[in-house]
Amino acid sequence: MKLAIMGAMPEEIAPILQRIGTYTTSEYAGNKYYEASYKDVDLVIAYSKIGKVFSTLTATTMIEHFGAQRLLFSGVAGAISASLKVGDLIVATKLTQHDLDITAFGHPYGYVPEGSVFVEADKEMIELSKIVANEMGKTIQEGIIATGDQFVADEARKNWIGKTFSADALEMEGASVAVVCDALDVPFFILRAISDAADMDASFSFDEFLETSAVESAEFVMKMVDKLVR
Ligand code: SAH
Repeated sequence: MKLAIMGAMPEEIAPILQRIGTYTTSEYAGNKYYEASYKDVDLVIAYSKIGKVFSTLTATTMIEHFGAQRLLFSGVAGAISASLKVGDLIVATKLTQHDLDITAFGHPYGYVPEGSVFVEADKEMIELSKIVANEMGKTIQEGIIATGDQFVADEARKNWIGKTFSADALEMEGASVAVVCDALDVPFFILRAISDAADMDASFSFDEFLETSAVESAEFVMKMVDKLVR
């Protein structure tokens, strides 16, 4: 089995590479990919760079070029739901693109013909995450994640996204990764630790908590990997 572990920024995969220890590095389509054998499985690890386009490229590369059969994403996000605080973990049940808008034609936000507003994450891995959370003594929240090519640092925009999609958290890569995995029939799991509240203080909060939140998420994802390889 070959698993892909993906982040968007170097800080999101650094704790994973550190944990793996030994890996080989190769370059493909302008990005670095790290390969390792871990327990009984092969891993391919990469950060995509920020946003929907780069994350689409990386997810596709991991699957089509490196042969990943399952993908786990680890990273940070802005909170929408008031119950999510900095450092808290959210597991995506389904994902949507909040900035996809052809509503001028009467379609709902997030929808284009032959697409769908939401893409659902793999249910088995979501179930597994509950077991992992229990074993780690951690609380995880499940919820809807909204993705767009914007760093949201605005209460009104955040509330609009929350209301329009019933979303609990927002970020810039999850839904594009979801679309790729869904189209290529690869089960995926998207985990985010909160770095900010997507409000006017978001950039400061993000800078302060990126590293610690990225570690929270990475540790959880590695525990998921440990379970999957068994
Ligand atoms: N610090 C970076 C920019 C980070 S962009 C720089 O200066 O280069 C924010 C990243 O974290 C994205 O990968 C996104 O997925 C996630 N994220 C965290 N909080 C977010 C928010 N409030 N809005 C959008 N994305 C957010």
